[in-house]
Amino acid sequence: MPDRPTRIDLIRNIERALRDESLQRQMGKAMPASRKARADAAAELPEWESLRSAAAEIKDHVLANLESYLGQLESQVRALGGVVHWASDAAEARVIITDLARSRGVRRIVKSKSMTTEEIFLNPALESAGASVVETDLGEYVVQLAGERPSHLIAPVVHKPTGEISDLFVKKLGVPRYERPEDLARVAREVLRAEFLAAEMGITGVNFAIAETGTLVIVENEGNARLTTARPRIHVAVMGIEKVLPRLADLSVFLRILARSGTGQRSSVYVSLLTGRRRVGETDGPEELHLVILDNGRRRLLADPDLRGALRCIRCGACQNECPVYQHAGGHAYGSVYAGPIGAVLTPAYEGLEQARDLPFASTLCRACADVCPVKIDLPGMLVELRARAVRTGLAPRRDRMLVGAWTFFTRSPARFVLAGSLGRLAQRLLARGGKIERLPYPLSGWTAHRTAPLLASRPFRKRWKPPQEGPQ
Ligand code: SF4
Repeated sequence: MPDRPTRIDLIRNIERALRDESLQRQMGKAMPASRKARADAAAELPEWESLRSAAAEIKDHVLANLESYLGQLESQVRALGGVVHWASDAAEARVIITDLARSRGVRRIVKSKSMTTEEIFLNPALESAGASVVETDLGEYVVQLAGERPSHLIAPVVHKPTGEISDLFVKKLGVPRYERPEDLARVAREVLRAEFLAAEMGITGVNFAIAETGTLVIVENEGNARLTTARPRIHVAVMGIEKVLPRLADLSVFLRILARSGTGQRSSVYVSLLTGRRRVGETDGPEELHLVILDNGRRRLLADPDLRGALRCIRCGACQNECPVYQHAGGHAYGSVYAGPIGAVLTPAYEGLEQARDLPFASTLCRACADVCPVKIDLPGMLVELRARAVRTGLAPRRDRMLVGAWTFFTRSPARFVLAGSLGRLAQRLLARGGKIERLPYPLSGWTAHRTAPLLASRPFRKRWKPPQEGPQ
């Protein structure tokens, strides 16, 4: 299982994404609509900024007292008849869940969308253990049929135009070609209904887990999570350690910001509060409830004062929609389950900066991500910090190190700065054609790969500038 993927080749992935006309058209259509929906939904609430501050404060409080709230959550879930499993990493989480499936003779599993189970590569492990696993969120079902991974935190199939999904359904399900999204949804619903009825185990993520009551909160729009948790006899919920909230009352803050930030909805269609397994006399709900609480690099992140704020993330996807790099590159270019600005922080933190050394550089640092983040994560600050670490540890690209080294050398003394200007003006006499430079030599060639370079002024500013004369007092 690829817990430690080979180095993510971001540049090659982005170049491929930019050449993909279908992807560019699709992202160009989907992203502006998502951004507008979020902005409109946020503007409706005069208290939006205070909600963001309250959410950030609650999350920081949780992170400062994490072990105590996790202990409380464990006690409450156990008191309600659930079983709590602790997984230190992805491999351990997979073993826990596959052992559960094997020991109970589970052959058919339905899943509702969960980025945490994507993070631990759960599906292939379950399939190797002999179980069939079917994703039941429509977008996630499509990416599963296509043999892909989600490209967005809340819209897993945002990269795929409807026409491609129509073709996929014809090929994989043998149905006539439907063009309208509602017809495609109907086809998926018919297939998935049989899966819900036959499944012995349902696997979900967890949006929030309430320490005070042991309640697991799942937010969704399609009702598939509700069926996944209510119908099969075993429910396995998988959450990162950071998903815990102290009290049920805290939930109201997060429910108000999550849907508005993610999809621009005032509220998600379904909010399920699951408190314990099925009780005597109840007609639905699982006979067995298992909660898998995953570390997988999170405690390491918690111990990092510069990056621990990333654990506030509620996976709304707003920073992805807003990021100019994500808008063009799409989620798959990031080579990891977490894409966009939050992915550029989480992937190096979870998988190691060496594997994901280019990701922190995939940002213009325009701060749009920080402006929309509902829990006020300083994503640009974290990206700069990760860049600094990449430079300090020799992981930054050689070309960048050469350029920054040269810049540092020439800007450290006025004489060298003047010399650099003179050399530059000399060089551009050879390189400029028609008032612009079309091609620069290495290590500057990246600049002119997609645009022309500006010319240096023939007379530098300091020669033209006259200091103001002192006037009479
Ligand atoms: S970092 Fe903020 S904006 Fe991005 S997904 Fe997480 S909560 Fe949403």
